[in-house]
Order: sequence, then structure tokens, then C-alpha cells
Amino acid sequence: MLKHIPAAILTAASLLSGAFAAERADVILLNGKVVTVDQRFTVAQGVAIRDERIIAVGKNADVLEHQGPGTKVIDLKRRTVIPGLIDNHAHFIRAPEHDELRFDGVISRKQALAMLAARVRAAKPGEWIVTLGGWSEDQFTDESRGFPLDELDRIAPDNPVVLQAIYIRSYLNSAALKAAGIDSTTPDPRGGKIEKDTLGKPTGVVSGGGGVAFVAARIPLPDKEQWVENVRKYVAGLNAMGITAWYDAGGRGVDERHYAAYRELASRSELNARAFWTTIRQPATPEQVDKVIAEIQQATPFQGNDWFDNIGWGESVYLPATTQLLRNDFVVKPEDMRQVQRVLHAVAESGMFLNAHVEMENAIDAYLDVMEAVNKVEPMKGLRWALSHVDQVTEAQLERMKRLGLYAGLHSRPLIQGVLMHTMHGDRAWDMPPFKRVQDSGIVWGLGSDATAVTPSNPFYTLSFAVTGRMIGGRRVNRQSVSREQALIAHTRSNAFFVFQENNLGSIAPGMYADLVVLDRDYLTVPAAQIKDIKPVMTMVGGRIVYPYK
Ligand SMILES: [Zn+2]
Repeated sequence: MLKHIPAAILTAASLLSGAFAAERADVILLNGKVVTVDQRFTVAQGVAIRDERIIAVGKNADVLEHQGPGTKVIDLKRRTVIPGLIDNHAHFIRAPEHDELRFDGVISRKQALAMLAARVRAAKPGEWIVTLGGWSEDQFTDESRGFPLDELDRIAPDNPVVLQAIYIRSYLNSAALKAAGIDSTTPDPRGGKIEKDTLGKPTGVVSGGGGVAFVAARIPLPDKEQWVENVRKYVAGLNAMGITAWYDAGGRGVDERHYAAYRELASRSELNARAFWTTIRQPATPEQVDKVIAEIQQATPFQGNDWFDNIGWGESVYLPATTQLLRNDFVVKPEDMRQVQRVLHAVAESGMFLNAHVEMENAIDAYLDVMEAVNKVEPMKGLRWALSHVDQVTEAQLERMKRLGLYAGLHSRPLIQGVLMHTMHGDRAWDMPPFKRVQDSGIVWGLGSDATAVTPSNPFYTLSFAVTGRMIGGRRVNRQSVSREQALIAHTRSNAFFVFQENNLGSIAPGMYADLVVLDRDYLTVPAAQIKDIKPVMTMVGGRIVYPYK
């Protein structure tokens, strides 16, 4: 009799009326402050979980109805629980190509050096020690400067060391210069500079985006088995920070091997976070656009599962029409925007999702012009297209975005770039990105990091930045703060929508996957200055306890 009634309705009916015997839970969380981030921002006491999903949320008594002989009951001891954090823009698929030493959130240069020394002691002879961004000299409150060659040589005489600051310069020791084949005769790479002393000898500093990429490409990659192990360890690190899912934007040097390592773990059901990614191509000429359009016409997104899936196209559209956060000289060229239009038209015609990287006001206008033109022939409203970064978006532009059904992705890049942004953009940097303006516009928007090179990865740093406007190290650089509730919604429920997972992820509610994080202190009431220091004590993904990792 009941077989034609969808399961979701049955569950809802059983919860409301108690007419059916309660479904037995595998795990029940009790006595907590469960910040559900549902549509009414309900706060509950407990959660009941069966298999991968949540079956009940409510008072202790409500969830205990689902207790059976085999149910594991966890007493939260009044701790706060939030939905698993979803980063709406990260390069975590690229990151495990190396088992990096990370300076994320380290505010003392002395401590960074001690961390390097410890890593050298633990390293095998000749093993590379690298950190590819996520920090800047400005975050050190004791001495805000980088790492000269002789200092690195003293600490690491035999191991190649590369310490990359943001995406703007790399500090190398002598062993790294030698292993990378960089000497006085090496010409500057495109878009970069190998800095040399008066005698023409490399100083150990290689600067510029092209320079950073040049150095990174010389660091050897692991074999397949080691790579998969790197991914496992890396994802455990994300879980320890409370990250359970993200949108992955690809990035420099990413190729099939990066995806294969993740796919391997996903196929063994051993991937402990959910990665939703877009195909990235960076065409730089009209001929390369021809090839990309042929690829777009063949693309078949959404062939994966809720752990690892391609969701469409992004974030690069056309390289010559791409802005950079730390430059202020972007000129919109009609011939470049024609190529952008060709790509976007093809994506819309294929009915695919698109995420486009756009930062400066003039570029946002130019992209919106193109999107409005494309929309006239290939309506895009149901495709959930997104603009990522939008650091200089205006109210008028937000209105245009809303009319097109666009989502806005905002990022915490000033955490380590804030001082540089103020140098480059002057007082305008106080409103970059304009969290409050975007929130007040009513557009659907979400928070992310853009880690791992240009931002630290910890989502509590991102939440902290949106709420306080303060960099790592404490300096205030942004005046567009939002409330902590608004920031949390933007880092959970809104981002679930962005990755087409709003029926599975983003809030703690019956029917959703049991992706949640138990915190060491209360996000909603802790002093704002402590938001960045919040640590998960337990992270669960799809009903599995993934942190602490066993
Ligand atoms: Zn971007």
C-alpha cells in the first residue's frame, strides 16, 4: 500500500505523527548545541544518523526515539555542532602533488624557521622540502620578511628547499637552485624574474607569477602509489580543519594524474571528503578557443557520484581576458571579449554549469555584457552560472547578476594579501571583497578560500575574515564584515547549492548526508577574535567519523 509514497514523505510523516515505528539509528549525537543552518537557522540538541544520512534532528528525546540495541550514542557535552564546511573555491586536487610543509596561520617568522628545521631533521638526504604558498611575509608579527639564501643553507645544507610566498615569489636554498638547474646563465622565465646579485649569481629569490610556476614545475612529482597516500593524508588534514566538501578550480600545472589519485581513493570508497570540480582549460588564442569549443561540445559532466564529480566548466575562460588581484592595469579588449563570448556561448549551448574568474570592476562589466548577450540566445538561468572572486563588484553589477541568475563566490584572500592589496588598490581595498554589499543585495553567495597558494586553507580563518576583516597576524584590512550567522550560511548551505548538492549537503536536517563538525568552542558566542582559533574535535562525512582519524 505504501510502495508508491516517496521515502522522504514517509520519513517526514513518521517524525510528525509517530505513526510508524522509529527507524533505528547507527549513531546518535546527544546533549549538544546543534546549529543546523536550516532555512530558519534552528538550533537543536541532537542528531540521529543511519548509514550515510541524518534521520532525525531535534531535542534529546526526539533523537533517542531512534535508539536501538546497536546504536552508538555520543554525548556532545554541550559542544557546538555545525554542518560540514564547504569551500566554494579551492585547489585541493592539485595540493597533494607534494607533501608540503605549511606555514598557514603561523604568525612568527622564528616559528616558521623552527618548523623548517624540524622538517629537515626528519627528511631523507636529498628530499625536497617545499611550501607552495598559503602564507606571506606580512603575516609574521616578529619580523615581516622572507628567507635569504644563506639562512636557508645553514638550516638545510643538503635538502632542496622552496618556500613560496602567496603566488608572488619563491625563496630557494643552494641545493634547490642546483637541483632545479638554475644558475647565472638561466634566462628569466616568461612572467617571472630570477633575481641575481651584482656578480650575476642567483640570490635564491625567483619572483613573479611566471617565476613561481617555473620553480614549482621543477619539483619532482611522486609516483602513483605515493601520490594516492599524499591525497589520503591531505584529506585527513582537511577533515581536521572541518572541511567535508569543496568546489575545485583546477589550477596551474593540473593534469590527469592529479584527478586520478583522487579518483582512485573515491573508487575504493576511501575518499573522506567530497570534491566537485570543473574542467579547466586556459586558451590564449582564437585557434586554441576553437579546440576548447570542440571539447565543450563533447563534455559530459555529472557522471561521478556525491564524492567526486565533474560539474561543468571553469574557472578560466580566456587567458588574455583574465584579471589578477594584485594588478590594477586590466584593459578590456573587444577582440578578447569576442573569444570569451565564443566560449561562454558554447558552454551555455551545452547546457553546462560555468564558473568564471572575474575580479575587477571593468572586467565584471565586460563579462556581464557578454553573458547578457549569450543569455538572449541561450538562456542561462537554470544553469547556475557563477562569478568567482568579484572583489570589486558594485551594487549595479549585483543587480545584473541577479537578473541572470548568477551566484557570487567570495574569498578570503586578503588574509595574507591584504597589505599588498592596499598598496595596489589604495582605499578601495577596504571593500575588497565587499561581503556586506553582496549579502545586502540578496544574491545567492558563498564563501571560500581560493587556497592553497594564495590563501590559507583553514575555513575558520575564512569565517573569521568575513566577520572581522582581519588578516593573519591581526591587521584590519576590510570593512565589509557580515554577521557570523551570515558567514556560516555562506560557507555551508549556499555552497551546497553552488555545487548542485542542496538536497544532500549544507545543513543538518533529516534526509541530508551526515556531514558535520563538532567544535571545541561555540562559533556563535566565542569572542570574534577567537573564531580563527576554533578547532574541530570530531568531523563526520557521510556518517563516517573521519576526524580524529582512526
Ligand atoms: Zn580565480
